[in-house]
Amino acid sequence: MNPAAPTHPIARLPEEWRTSLAARGERAFAAKQVFDWIQKRGVVDAAAMSNLSPKLRAALAEEGLSPGLCVPEQVHRSSDGTRKIAVRLRDGALIETVLLPSLTAPGAPANQEADDDDDDAEQHGSSPHTRVTQCISTQVGCAMGCIFCASGVAGLKRQLGAEEITAQVLLGRSLLDEGEALRNVVYMGMGEPLHNYEATARSIRLLTHPDGIGLSTRRVTISTSGLVPEINRLGEEFKGQVALAISLHAADDTTRSALMPINRRYPLAELMKALHAYPLPKRRRITIEYTLVAGKNDDVAEAKKVARLLRGLPVKINLIPMNPIDASTLGPPSFGRVGAFQQVLIDAGYSCFVRKQRGDDVSAACGQLVLIGAKPKVKGFRPAQES
Ligand code: SF4
Repeated sequence: MNPAAPTHPIARLPEEWRTSLAARGERAFAAKQVFDWIQKRGVVDAAAMSNLSPKLRAALAEEGLSPGLCVPEQVHRSSDGTRKIAVRLRDGALIETVLLPSLTAPGAPANQEADDDDDDAEQHGSSPHTRVTQCISTQVGCAMGCIFCASGVAGLKRQLGAEEITAQVLLGRSLLDEGEALRNVVYMGMGEPLHNYEATARSIRLLTHPDGIGLSTRRVTISTSGLVPEINRLGEEFKGQVALAISLHAADDTTRSALMPINRRYPLAELMKALHAYPLPKRRRITIEYTLVAGKNDDVAEAKKVARLLRGLPVKINLIPMNPIDASTLGPPSFGRVGAFQQVLIDAGYSCFVRKQRGDDVSAACGQLVLIGAKPKVKGFRPAQES
């Protein structure tokens, strides 16, 4: 590794390229060229960077700028256009990333899609492209152990480097269909992004850098199970511009701790305090993700508790009937129970949507593709009968 640039080349910011290449006696312009090759053109093989000197290409290849960092092993395409990509990393580990094209017809008002971000409607309502959201992973497995989640079943294997997080987006862009444009990146794949804070934050800086992909920071969403100190840090460092999605899943500590062990460390009172303090720009809202698990958190009494808990917080609520996973006997509630839950929240004045099932035929729930065959770590239960 180059001592002047301790990070992997894909994870280097322009100012770090200037330092590292100056240490090699390269022209300042080479820094701009390399960043452009990687972040704008998505080229991650130094040998293909034709405007660099052979000496520099060889040095960069030695630092890891060579094929094999992030290789698509399987691409599963669902009938709704969702593409779920199993990605093999250099050490053999498997992660996943998902491309989710908007279901709205190109050129049509984007707010036809019920759970769209408001800004989409404002800014891209007349885009001729199909807008694509990419969901990316930040860890191999996950340490948080949520009992309804395929990633939680396997436990944490290792953290991803910022280069591996960023490379998923470079790869995703290369797999877009004609007429598609990447609009949003959501850190909602395998892993808890705030449990890998440094790499996550660096990847956000890379993806939003104007000389690279140039995503708007507002189009980056961090989904977290509720790591309070890191939520506070994210809010401070990115001035509230990064969108936040909170996996809530219950509105009392007993139920939430049973579903999500992280709640024992950061109970709801602390989480709510952090959310109220998050420096949200005007007219932006926090997304509340609520996975409905049959018999655990899906009755109307729970919905009323959710309504009380969130009062005064600018939120939109996504209800997600749990995707069944092979490794667990937990399952989704009936259609009727989902509707009753949603109605309580709508009646309480919230924007509340049931998230569309996307890519069910390709195992599109978090962590499922690479976990087929995984053994359950937690004891599940049988889904409740419809009442
Ligand atoms: S829901 Fe998220 S935080 Fe919980 S185990 Fe799954 S990946 Fe980890």
